[in-house]
Amino acid sequence: MMRVTEKKFNLNLLIRDNIKAMRPYSSARDEFNELNSNNMIFLDANENPFENDVNRYPDPHQKALKEVLATIKNVNSASIVIGNGSDEVLDLLFRAFCEPNVDNIITLPPTYGMYGVLANLNAIENKRILLTDDFQPNVSSILNRANEHTKMIFLCSPNNPTGNTFSETEILKILKEFKGLVVIDEAYIEFSEKPSWLKRINEYENLVIVQTLSKAYGMAGLRLGLLFASPEIIAVLEKIKPPYNVNSISQKIAIEKLASMKYIYEIEELKSERERVMKALVRCKIVTEIFPSETNFILFRVDNATFQYHQFLQNGIVVRNRSNDSLCRSCLRITIGTPKENDKVIELLKNLKNV
Ligand SMILES: *Cc1c(COP(=O)(O)O)cnc(C)c1O
Repeated sequence: MMRVTEKKFNLNLLIRDNIKAMRPYSSARDEFNELNSNNMIFLDANENPFENDVNRYPDPHQKALKEVLATIKNVNSASIVIGNGSDEVLDLLFRAFCEPNVDNIITLPPTYGMYGVLANLNAIENKRILLTDDFQPNVSSILNRANEHTKMIFLCSPNNPTGNTFSETEILKILKEFKGLVVIDEAYIEFSEKPSWLKRINEYENLVIVQTLSKAYGMAGLRLGLLFASPEIIAVLEKIKPPYNVNSISQKIAIEKLASMKYIYEIEELKSERERVMKALVRCKIVTEIFPSETNFILFRVDNATFQYHQFLQNGIVVRNRSNDSLCRSCLRITIGTPKENDKVIELLKNLKNV
């Protein structure tokens, strides 16, 4: 039996035919993009000419923001796609590589729900292969279930909602054996002590990394998702993305906030706050199991998730009930708040009653 996984990686075989054939929309800013030419009169995009800070279309290639990110992340600008949140860059992957009603993807529940939603939206079969009991990928099942129509495997590491990272050895096996795209979602990587996979995008041509400015960087409202991969993969995604997908206000504010470096101190504070909440959970009598966290949230098991969810709610604290996720029976997920908010959580944990 010839195993699909033994074929060499060939990006051209992964791209949908209609995507290969299409010509991208050419925006006014693509045809003339020297926006800094102060003495030019821009009458090419049917914009309102009166300055009000937002009357011009944004840079479709987000050049300035990419340069800042390239420095922070130590990658080449040509290896970055920026989207309107991670959700948009994830959707671009489906549109570029997955043929509706033909191709499939592999996801590893319990994990981020958006991969499955995007698979449905794009009419792509989602092969769900449960994580093991210690929340690690089951590599032999994954490789067995992959076939010639499996275009992508989604690895969320650190994983939402479990909070752990996946073992490096297991991820390496998948990267080496699977010749479709291996998408590692690192939305929470800044909260982990483990290294990002970002520095390996030059080593593995099937590796795609997704990160976000929504969590550690504190900019969820700006909707900025980042995708990193080889320049060849990036070129395909840049070709199909909506030209003005990242608005000018988001680009501008992100550049300012990234320059301030404030987020670096906040990440350290959130990590130490996480340990404080963790200790209070250990002492709390409704809690039966706590899962280690390399994120800004903690998953924990209680005597009865619905009952305890409402007990939190009645005390003014909204947590997430994850008890319907696979392997998450009776589990709640709590995000780490400010020190003051966590004080309230810790106080409440002393007083919560069993069901
Ligand atoms: C929060 C989160 C994201 C971020 O999504 P945005 O659209 O960038 O806000 C991505 N992946 C996972 C696993 C998340 O939990």
